[in-house]
Amino acid sequence: MKYEELYDSSFLSNFDEVYLNEIKNLTLEIEDEDYQIDLIKISDILGINIEYKIFSHSGMYDPSENIIYLNELEPEFRQRFTLAHELGHAVLGHNISYRTELPEYISIIEKMNETNANKFAAELLLPKRLVVLALYHAYEILEYNENEEVSENQVNEIVYVTARLLNVSEQSLRFRFNNLSLFSEAI
Ligand SMILES: [Zn+2]
Repeated sequence: MKYEELYDSSFLSNFDEVYLNEIKNLTLEIEDEDYQIDLIKISDILGINIEYKIFSHSGMYDPSENIIYLNELEPEFRQRFTLAHELGHAVLGHNISYRTELPEYISIIEKMNETNANKFAAELLLPKRLVVLALYHAYEILEYNENEEVSENQVNEIVYVTARLLNVSEQSLRFRFNNLSLFSEAI
């Protein structure tokens, strides 16, 4: 399945025209249980380098060098969310000029940028169509019937399996289910 089929055109319009076709043509082999958005390939297409290091943050984007730093001590699913978040800063052009902005506005801009980068990350890693496909597959794996009510324990298993398929944390998946008004009993 091409990425073009996973994302809304409004989300894709965040990307510069120059990179858009290459991103749209990336593929997921759903039939081979490949539900993981390839953030490394997307970074490659955008010409952004990724470096792993040990520091006190989860991640950081350096616009002048076009490098995203990731904390090498964090688990992969966490690094993936951080990378998606930092890609958000890069793609959305978050670049506060501390010299020209008034100090009282800087913290407001930073908060808005953080919110928007998180929103971008959720949409990039967990597009609705992909989440639904992974959710159905989790039901298949667990041999549950999606038309029958599931117990709280079963919900936890479904969230666990779906999160593994998508390679995201259970917490961010539950948050996304909630945002998409999907599978509301999971929350
Ligand atoms: Zn941030």
